[in-house]
Amino acid sequence: MTRTLGGSIEELRAAMAGVVFTPEDSDYDQARLLWNADADRRPAVVARCSSAADVVAALRYARAEGLEVAVRCGAHSVSGQSGVDGGLVVDLSGMREVTVDPERKLARAGGGALISDLDAATQAHGLAVPTGLVGHTGIGGLTLGGGMGWLTRQAGMACDNLESVEIVVADGRILRASAERDADLFWAVRGGGGNFGVVTEFEYRLHEVGPMIQFGFLFWEAERGREALRAIREAVVTLPRSCNVVVAGLNAPPAPFVPAEHHLKPGFALILCGFGDPDEHTRAVARVSAALPPLVEAVTPMPYTVLGQAFDEANAWGQYAYETSARYAELTDDVIDVMVAQLGGRTSPATALLTYRLDQAYSEVDPDATAFGGTRDPQYNTFMLAIAPDAETMGADRSWARGVRDSLAPFALDAGGYVNAMAEREEHRVRAAYGDKYDRLARIKAEYDPGNVFHRNINIKPA
Ligand SMILES: Cc1cc2nc3c(=O)[nH]c(=O)nc-3n(C[C@H](O)[C@H](O)[C@H](O)COP(=O)(O)OP(=O)(O)OC[C@H]3O[C@@H](n4cnc5c(N)ncnc54)[C@H](O)[C@@H]3O)c2cc1C
Repeated sequence: MTRTLGGSIEELRAAMAGVVFTPEDSDYDQARLLWNADADRRPAVVARCSSAADVVAALRYARAEGLEVAVRCGAHSVSGQSGVDGGLVVDLSGMREVTVDPERKLARAGGGALISDLDAATQAHGLAVPTGLVGHTGIGGLTLGGGMGWLTRQAGMACDNLESVEIVVADGRILRASAERDADLFWAVRGGGGNFGVVTEFEYRLHEVGPMIQFGFLFWEAERGREALRAIREAVVTLPRSCNVVVAGLNAPPAPFVPAEHHLKPGFALILCGFGDPDEHTRAVARVSAALPPLVEAVTPMPYTVLGQAFDEANAWGQYAYETSARYAELTDDVIDVMVAQLGGRTSPATALLTYRLDQAYSEVDPDATAFGGTRDPQYNTFMLAIAPDAETMGADRSWARGVRDSLAPFALDAGGYVNAMAEREEHRVRAAYGDKYDRLARIKAEYDPGNVFHRNINIKPA
């Protein structure tokens, strides 16, 4: 039995309904695994919690043992913050239950649920929460930092659709924060990341979506990149709210709808998904297509749940990853020139530029209503997403990603970017991302986590 200062690991095991892993356990290597192969962490303890009470027990043990704490939901943080060498991981992957109240259009999801869990439960009622693009992403990190994806133009970000959270704060209290109770805390968790405690349950407002949606994929070769991005820019302002816009600089997928000779060739894609009247989507695609006929035009109806997992394989676990981001008001000629010039600089075929159009519902949220760092003006948010099969290729594409961000800096709305796309903890960028909201967040942090127990995140220092 391992016996240390604050009690034994056996006592933690006895106190928790969930499972506890240490390096002696055969499943330890599986339990400590994170999505990003570049983040290889060896915690002393992985506490797979199955309730808020388990979380309280795990935090108490970490405090008694002086262990650094990490919190894990879907394990997708590219920075690897949800693991910790020699510390304790509060692993929420045992808390993935989702319950739906279709009458009141509300869903409650465990703090360890994945987007695909939420989609499966809500779509059974023709409802959905706006989340992100990849089904195996955790709702925890995603929602707490913002959460942009397929439904952002229609219904805002994940954090905009929170009704309440159940949260275990640093002193072990279990709180239910909402607009009515602990309102400052509720404000802070909607964008302020995992700084304020462990969220054991998210309660979301639901929207009517699907079950079928319209998927549109238009692709132009890199040589026509400038014209393509200009055509997309002109089209975006005319598109109905029901059409979501993602623009990607990537290699053409080796899919049946892409001519074989263009498989894996670089270019720019417009992913136009329609969540309303299919005719509206058809007209939107036709408008873009007429402006600049694409090399590939693939349009098909698809279940919303299939869309939610369409990019899962390309983003599979076990690859090396790095990401950073920039947000800017317009797809100006200068921005387009950067993207076109930089597309050819990638080393790994999976590395990409992924740009989300943020407007409509995103822009209708009062900028001060949540802690989300960034303006609510219509804008674009570009992820420079490096994904590589090995560490060496990752090194090259990490430099590439930073270079693209730096080239976009003169046109960016702020020097911080989106906190959920920060693979590095650079304090000046965190402050820049939150702008005026940083000081209020630091005061709330001082109230709920004065000792900065929850610091393995995009950290806000207690005031
Ligand atoms: C393949 C991929 C696709 C992505 N797509 C999108 C996208 O479409 N849109 C978008 O906005 N972002 C996207 N992201 C970024 C994503 O939002 C962040 O990486 C996010 O942190 C992932 O959340 P997670 O729960 O999976 O991560 P984890 O690594 O489990 O957690 C990250 C951090 O969040 C905090 N945290 C997580 N859960 C909790 C909780 N329940 N309580 C308290 N703190 C918690 C902790 O601080 C933790 O360190 C994507 C990332 C990847 C890797």
